[in-house]
Amino acid sequence: MSNVEASGACDVAVVGAGAAGLTASIVAGERAGGKTGRSIVLLDGANRIGAKILVSGGGRCNVTHDAVTPSDYFGNRRIIKNVLAAFSAADTVEWFASMGVTLKREDTGKLFPVTDTARTVLTALVTRARTLGITIRTGHRVSGLEKSVSAGFVLRHSHGSLNAKNVILATGGRSIPRSGSDGFGYSLARRLGHSVTTTVPALVPLVLDAQMFHQSLSGLSQEITMTTTVNGHTADTRSGSLLWTHFGISGPVVMDASRFWTLARERGEDAFVHANFLPGQTPEQVRAWFVHEASHRPRRSLVNTLALRVPERFAEVLCRHAGCSPQQAVAQVCRADRERLIAALTKLALPIERERGWNYAEVTAGGVPLEEIDYRTMESKLVPGLYLVGEILDCDGRIGGFNFQWAWTTGFLAGRAAAGLGPRRGHHVA
Ligand SMILES: Cc1cc2nc3c(=O)[nH]c(=O)nc-3n(C[C@H](O)[C@H](O)[C@H](O)COP(=O)(O)OP(=O)(O)OC[C@H]3O[C@@H](n4cnc5c(N)ncnc54)[C@H](O)[C@@H]3O)c2cc1C
Repeated sequence: MSNVEASGACDVAVVGAGAAGLTASIVAGERAGGKTGRSIVLLDGANRIGAKILVSGGGRCNVTHDAVTPSDYFGNRRIIKNVLAAFSAADTVEWFASMGVTLKREDTGKLFPVTDTARTVLTALVTRARTLGITIRTGHRVSGLEKSVSAGFVLRHSHGSLNAKNVILATGGRSIPRSGSDGFGYSLARRLGHSVTTTVPALVPLVLDAQMFHQSLSGLSQEITMTTTVNGHTADTRSGSLLWTHFGISGPVVMDASRFWTLARERGEDAFVHANFLPGQTPEQVRAWFVHEASHRPRRSLVNTLALRVPERFAEVLCRHAGCSPQQAVAQVCRADRERLIAALTKLALPIERERGWNYAEVTAGGVPLEEIDYRTMESKLVPGLYLVGEILDCDGRIGGFNFQWAWTTGFLAGRAAAGLGPRRGHHVA
């Protein structure tokens, strides 16, 4: 990749060479006729691009999901729906196939490259960008972005300046700041008049009070229903896998739910999380089961009885947490102990101390409001010629490939429009 002084002028400057910026520059290049078309410069502050693509999906890159709907995202769902309609998961599959990357669907609905390595995805994107004659400048951190006095924009970067007719801002959010996505893009957008909603870590593990029993269960995973209440009202309830860790809790259900806790805490609201370790079961149902077990297998130990329904390690720890002896016969458990156990099984308060921070968050909740962009093109409504794509926008998806789908889709729309081609034909405008 070229690292020479980037001064001069181009038609389209793309700031940020992550998933969204790479897509935007490639699509702009494809639509503008490759090397003979408009000049496109892709700038990134990092010396090596694609850090997040490489670490994603445990190094396998969960590119998208076979069923992508607005309800998989948080943000203005009316706008999200319109954006997603322009470039679907099927379009993603086709587009990657055109770059030689075949995707496979796993039972969960997640799509990964058949090679099971994220490098395949990054290499394909960079190769396509190069083939199209896109200038990629690594180690070029953009520090200023202004409207030019004549037309277009002036970008100031670590090696000089660049004039561009159109600019696509694809600087990501604040998660994993060492990757280069440290939130500076929000300042660039703000200086051009955009607002930025509160940004908090999302898809982030949660740290529990050190007095809690999580450490003794580290490595154990179990199915739960997790409920987050904010100011006394249920803000979110979802089921899935929880992973106990040395610091607290992680796993898909925790990561997906974390944004509700982080957002509420940021706003100074009272946020609490509790878990039902017998998903779908009410305390009454659990009580009936318990009474049945106590009368039919009275001599079985309490821990072995509970282990019929939850992992044994967890059963033992939960007994102690509820003040019961794990080895006592189930028929000898007194009513008060039984009720404490049932409450712990179906509505255990998880004492969250904090989220684990930006170094462990997979995405950012919050960003530039979607209402400030034209969803047909991702062009700013405030600054003509400026486009915003990917995680910088106020939209975050749940785990499963939805955040990359947002990056591909928004990158597609902006790349196409910045190349001078306008909205996609037939793109529904609600
Ligand atoms: C560990 C982890 C695993 C993940 N796994 C998945 C997954 O499997 N599936 C999924 O859908 N999502 C996953 N995600 C989320 C996904 O990676 C992001 O949503 C996506 O990468 C966002 O793309 P983006 O292009 O908007 O931003 P980024 O990928 O963050 O790219 C932004 C780029 O802009 C550059 N930049 C920032 N500021 C400047 C500046 N001032 N000047 C120049 N360059 C700048 C940065 O260096 C960076 O290269 C994961 C995230 C993490 C952290």
